[in-house]
Amino acid sequence: MRITPVQTPSHETVLRVHDAEIGLTGFIAVHSTHLGPAAGGLRMRPYASEDAALTDALRLSRGMTYKNAAAGLPLGGGKAVIMGDAAQKTPAQLLSFACAVQSLNGRYWTAEDMGMSPADMELMTQETKYVAGLPNGSHASGDPSPITARGIFNSIKTTTRHRFGNDDLTGRTVSVQGLGHVGGYLCQYLHDAGAKLILADLDQNRVQEMRKKLGADVATADGILTANADIFAPCAIGAILNEESIAALNVAAVCGGANNQLATPEDGDRLHARSVLYAPDFVANAGGIINVATEILEIDNRTAYVDEKLATLDVTLDAMLTRAKQMNCSPDAVATSIVDEMLASKAA
Ligand code: NAD
Repeated sequence: MRITPVQTPSHETVLRVHDAEIGLTGFIAVHSTHLGPAAGGLRMRPYASEDAALTDALRLSRGMTYKNAAAGLPLGGGKAVIMGDAAQKTPAQLLSFACAVQSLNGRYWTAEDMGMSPADMELMTQETKYVAGLPNGSHASGDPSPITARGIFNSIKTTTRHRFGNDDLTGRTVSVQGLGHVGGYLCQYLHDAGAKLILADLDQNRVQEMRKKLGADVATADGILTANADIFAPCAIGAILNEESIAALNVAAVCGGANNQLATPEDGDRLHARSVLYAPDFVANAGGIINVATEILEIDNRTAYVDEKLATLDVTLDAMLTRAKQMNCSPDAVATSIVDEMLASKAA
């Protein structure tokens, strides 16, 4: 296995990990360790090219710096990717990649992301101790999705208060795109709070299951983007807020769990220009990494830690939305500059 540094001015360290014999090519990107060891998951996908894989690792690791900082975690931002079909992954590939993680001596902690399972993480512990998302162990943190959903629910209430003057969700309509791990838990929270739901997923069985369980309306996968609702909660894929979709939105606010919802930073300005209040995704969906952090930081009272960090996250979002209103600009731009200030003060 060969580990080669990739010179990338925007990031502290980027490693290319390659082993031709076992068909392994991947990257580890450490964006920032200003606030602590970089943390972010390992993703395996059939990328079209090495450039595409590297770009994904760079983009996602930067996103983790912002998410971890916004959540008040003593963690920096990192991410790792392996090129290939996750259904074909081999133990040799994972063990070799784990050696590369170990070579950073704790400057990067990995965890599950797309294409990885808790069992994969457990296997990697044979070669590195810097792995979280384990199925067992004294500080194993389990499925982060319920905590992610709780954080989004809190953020929806805060966003509702800023947009409508109170945070009562009774009778408010929320359109939800994606009814997977996060979307499923979120819908239950919203339903319990009295919200009316409009649901969409590519998986029609899942849609029907949730429709029956919650008595919700449904929309098509395209129709959810133009559904008439108070709040839109994207909980599926990234980059769904672009020039075209924003022009067609029929909501007063957007707050959901999907990573990288804005196709470009300008899309935050487009939402603002349309008076659609946008809760920055890296703040709204930080509950999951808060849960994972309890494992990395070996927190003994996980429940108390998660509760306290989620409450602080809510205060942070409130401050971001307040500042955005005062400055009459996009909350995404404000959130990004607030984290930039945090990082700069730590680096000074
Ligand atoms: P998941 O795979 O369990 O669920 C995603 C769901 O979205 C699936 O049911 C899928 O069928 C559906 N979907 C995909 N494309 C769609 C489309 N175009 N229209 C409608 N539905 C579509 O994933 P998840 O764990 O629930 O994560 C959802 C999003 O939240 C992802 O963007 C993920 O990166 C982000 N996120 C998840 C967590 C977590 O704790 N799981 C934490 C932070 C961020």
